[in-house]
Amino acid sequence: MELDIKRTFTDLFSRRVGLKRDATVYTLDDVTGEFLRHHPQADVSYLEKAYAFGDKAHEGQTRKSGQPYFTHPTAVAYVLAHNKLDMVTIAAGFLHDTVEDCDGVTHDVLVREFGEDLARIVDGVTKIGKVKFRDKEQAQAENYRKMILAMCQDVRVLIVKLADRFHNMMTLGHLPDQKRRRISMETLDIYAPLAQRIGMSHFRNELERISFYYLEPEAYQEVQRQILERDKRNADFLESVTDELERLMIEYNVSCEISSRIKSSYSIHKKMQRKGCNLDGLYDYYAFRLITDSVENCYKIFGLLHGRWRHIPGRIKDFIATPKSNLYQSIHTTLISRNGTPFEVQVRTHMMHRIAEEGVAAHWTYKNGRLITIGKNDFVSWLRKVAEVNADVSDSDEFLDTIKGQLKSKDILVFTPGSEIKTLPMGATPLDFAYLIHTEVGHKAVGAKVDGKLVKLNSELESGNIVEIITKTNQHPTEEWLGIVKTPSAKAKIRSWLRAKEKEKAIEMGRKLFEQELKRNKVPLRKITRDVITSHLEDFEKKNLDDFYAALGFGSITPRKAVRPFLPEEPVDELPDKESKLQRAIQKVKRKSKNMVTVRGHNDILVNLAKCCNPIIGDDIVGFITLGRGISVHRKDCPEFQRQMVTPERRMEVAWDDSGEDRLFMVNIRVYTEDRSGMIADISNAISDTKTNIQNMRANVSDSTGVFDITLQIRSLDHLNKVNKALRKIRGVLSLERVQ
Ligand code: MN
Repeated sequence: MELDIKRTFTDLFSRRVGLKRDATVYTLDDVTGEFLRHHPQADVSYLEKAYAFGDKAHEGQTRKSGQPYFTHPTAVAYVLAHNKLDMVTIAAGFLHDTVEDCDGVTHDVLVREFGEDLARIVDGVTKIGKVKFRDKEQAQAENYRKMILAMCQDVRVLIVKLADRFHNMMTLGHLPDQKRRRISMETLDIYAPLAQRIGMSHFRNELERISFYYLEPEAYQEVQRQILERDKRNADFLESVTDELERLMIEYNVSCEISSRIKSSYSIHKKMQRKGCNLDGLYDYYAFRLITDSVENCYKIFGLLHGRWRHIPGRIKDFIATPKSNLYQSIHTTLISRNGTPFEVQVRTHMMHRIAEEGVAAHWTYKNGRLITIGKNDFVSWLRKVAEVNADVSDSDEFLDTIKGQLKSKDILVFTPGSEIKTLPMGATPLDFAYLIHTEVGHKAVGAKVDGKLVKLNSELESGNIVEIITKTNQHPTEEWLGIVKTPSAKAKIRSWLRAKEKEKAIEMGRKLFEQELKRNKVPLRKITRDVITSHLEDFEKKNLDDFYAALGFGSITPRKAVRPFLPEEPVDELPDKESKLQRAIQKVKRKSKNMVTVRGHNDILVNLAKCCNPIIGDDIVGFITLGRGISVHRKDCPEFQRQMVTPERRMEVAWDDSGEDRLFMVNIRVYTEDRSGMIADISNAISDTKTNIQNMRANVSDSTGVFDITLQIRSLDHLNKVNKALRKIRGVLSLERVQ
């Protein structure tokens, strides 16, 4: 075999995406010429027809730059042809704006003239028209939603959208500054990560670079300046390492292509910001790529590199053995040159290179006129998941946030015991994995085996783990689980289970409370049929019986109120002879506590001060709905409350109602003191000086330290603070705390 070594320098600012300069006007011949380069025998009349149709449809329209509008779709078609897309996609590039912007061009017209496939692609990139949206954000969210659904059907929708966005970014200079920034931001948030997801890294790099240029012009110039400053050094270094690589490959008889580059300016910027270093601190400022014929050669080269240079441990990444979720494969390692400069080397085969460059496009082919995927492609299933999870997110901000989050999260790949690959975000737990397998597996999960070892549901998974879920039939989700899972889909599944369960319980509880209250009032249950209750639902502003019972169960309607419409004329309530003294006393206390705290939006609701933290007037408080016991009020910093991880739906805004007469709370404090005589007297005097009653006091002396547990009658937090201050003034008082 003849040894064949090619060498190239590909700086990332080369125009691999395809466009020359923003002002360049492309012609039909440019597009067909580019297409024929990859398909020499093809008949291009379909492209000619699309060009003529689009040219006519956009006639008379101009862009902000003053150029005829159709220069834009033509440039988009050119980018698509340059990136080896098929004829339908290129034609869709010519026509992508017609339905949105041209009178008389509809979906049906495109189907008739150019076929279903093209019409579907164009429809996918067309904004939703005619519908009135609440605001701009909602319109935008709905448009993303539509586009993502269309991309699930046909990934070419995304590729056309990327080419469109790329040309728009190239010609952003003609727009007002604010608009440029908004579009650049959206490109960074949505389109660059999407391009990365489908493996079209050259699109991503270009989109990021231009966005960076518009969003942070000064930082951009600064990075460029630093790169230029090293221009001579850059060239020398790249050349000397390439020389050495070439000699090494010749010596060991390995055919390959060697290319070199410096890191893209936006990646440099991001990394320098993250690590707070300058260019010299980057391990991969310089990178070399060796492309060879076989996987075997890849590992051979890897061995040769490590024999020749020192490497940095921990920076070897074998994406050949474990491909990335976008199917990217290569071996990466970071070496150190003899003068101490680090550089990254990537080794891959030609096929891996094609996939890395063309991304998803390399996985698609035609079979009987239908587009099919070659091999396994996670992108489409990932997209489906995105669409699915967000299907019921009605809030447009939340929708955009989840989409952005999902786009930016880094992935790990883990395996089922049957060696099936599953993709999860970094930081995901076995519980996420369980929900990914099946909702029921998630609900019933009790633990997991990771690489054969038993682990807890909240342990963190790593790439390459083999995960097996252990289930039990009597297991079910709890609120703690919301804190364990990382994936939005698992979270959504747990939430909906909890919601359903909670409501079920509340309905049951509400029904019981209602019946008890009727009994107490001597109303025969058989008289109060479903229909009777239903006829009164409006009094409570409830839509159905379940909602009514649930409100009772959650305590937002009290039993007394609930039965009122069903009672005979005489109020049964006032029967003093039937009520014992004790009962009346309890009633009194209850009424008192009910008025101490107000709940926003509700004025007649049962309120309980939590026993665990004994909140007093003035404390920061939170409330949450409990089953059957109304609202439970805790101190905001109560550890018990935080442990319960209350779902947002159950939280209630509460505030102290400081009108009305003084109320007394029992507050326990613990005072640590030096051991000296007269301490007890000093403490009691200090407390009574603040006009505070002591309910109880216990002293304990050990190791020359005194510990006093005191129960005080306190009116409010201010009052308590006054007492504390007085106590702290006593000589020998070391510290003081409020105990639960
Ligand atoms: Mn466009």
